[in-house]
Amino acid sequence: MTVSLYVHVPFCVVKCAYCDFHSTPISPEPALADHFAWAVGEGAAHWAALGVLDDVASIYVGGGTPTTLGSATVSPVDVLHRNARLAPDAEVTVETNPDTTDPAIALQLVEVGVTRFSLGVQSFDDTVLRTLGRCHTASSAERALEDLLGTGAAVSMDLICGVPGQTRDSWRDTVRRAVSSGVGHISVYPLTVEEGTPFAESVSSEAIEPPDDDLAAEMMESAGAELVASGFRRYEVASYARDGCEGRHNAGYWTGRPYIGIGPAAASMLPAEVFGAAIECEAWSDPGVAGIGRTLEGVPPECRRVRMVNPADTITFLRKPVGPPEDVEYLTGVEAAAEDAMLGLRLTDGITDGTASDAGVADVLTELASQGLVEHVGDRWRVTSRGWLLGNEVFESVWYAGTHRGMGWHSL
Ligand code: SF4
Repeated sequence: MTVSLYVHVPFCVVKCAYCDFHSTPISPEPALADHFAWAVGEGAAHWAALGVLDDVASIYVGGGTPTTLGSATVSPVDVLHRNARLAPDAEVTVETNPDTTDPAIALQLVEVGVTRFSLGVQSFDDTVLRTLGRCHTASSAERALEDLLGTGAAVSMDLICGVPGQTRDSWRDTVRRAVSSGVGHISVYPLTVEEGTPFAESVSSEAIEPPDDDLAAEMMESAGAELVASGFRRYEVASYARDGCEGRHNAGYWTGRPYIGIGPAAASMLPAEVFGAAIECEAWSDPGVAGIGRTLEGVPPECRRVRMVNPADTITFLRKPVGPPEDVEYLTGVEAAAEDAMLGLRLTDGITDGTASDAGVADVLTELASQGLVEHVGDRWRVTSRGWLLGNEVFESVWYAGTHRGMGWHSL
């Protein structure tokens, strides 16, 4: 079984105002960083002992900000290499932020097998960065880009649009500077207001304007046009790449490849029989660990796929890196097929007639095509430019139709 491997590093220099990921704003002392690396090794050894890491297509060390671990960032990558059997062309990505990118450590990471860095730039406008609560500036982002590109590894960057106060000119300048930086991959996201974040509080107290969805959609489109005109290809709803620079780890999430998540709040997705084997292991039967009651009930007979999330608790992970997940979702064969169709439509290549038929979504796709939201080309269904603007509604319709077969499709 080919899998992807994800490691969640739950530390950041500061907590960005809009972020609801599991991360704590600290720069770990060397002893904590080393202990974290040990815990990742324990997690990897557990899955390796179950035979799940015999064919690893990609590793993604994300978070959080993995490079807050400083020189100890190298150890988790090294330990994963030693526990997993990587495909010869495996992609190994480490996320980093401008203020935690150290050129010497970046070179060491490449020496232990990192092939790609993903840098959180978000904007080249310091005013926008301050609104987002980012801890870096545009010039530190440019320095980090230079350092990362200097390692010879592939580099990706993330950008955010639709930020209150962000002008069209500011956004145009950010996209142009991203293109001219020399990276091969750029992801573009609209800002979303996540409940419980300082940003959501500022919006609800009217200290800040809420994001303008129409302006964000316009910015997404203008960025797409600029990127495509500059030689990038949109291959996923939010992802653009030069030839050969497509991110292979995320592509696994959209094409149904099983994945293993190590670290607090990390998610895994496995075929039911592999999950069944994991349930049997002693480490998961420790009654002192939260979530045990739900996971040991066993796998329902109709289950084909299991998705699970580790406890979002860094202390628990550091004390006991291998334990049962906190949340477990059992998917039937029908649900797994609907999920494959829905996620596959995030890719610009879309899904085949066979995938649509297996998922029972051909009728809803025909209806969506009549509304100009998807199109049928050759033997594939794919989302149109208009459909991307209503992406969530398209994906929801496909999911609903696939999981309510025989009950008609869910019209937008
Ligand atoms: S750097 Fe990323 S993970 Fe960390 S707080 Fe900011 S958005 Fe969240």
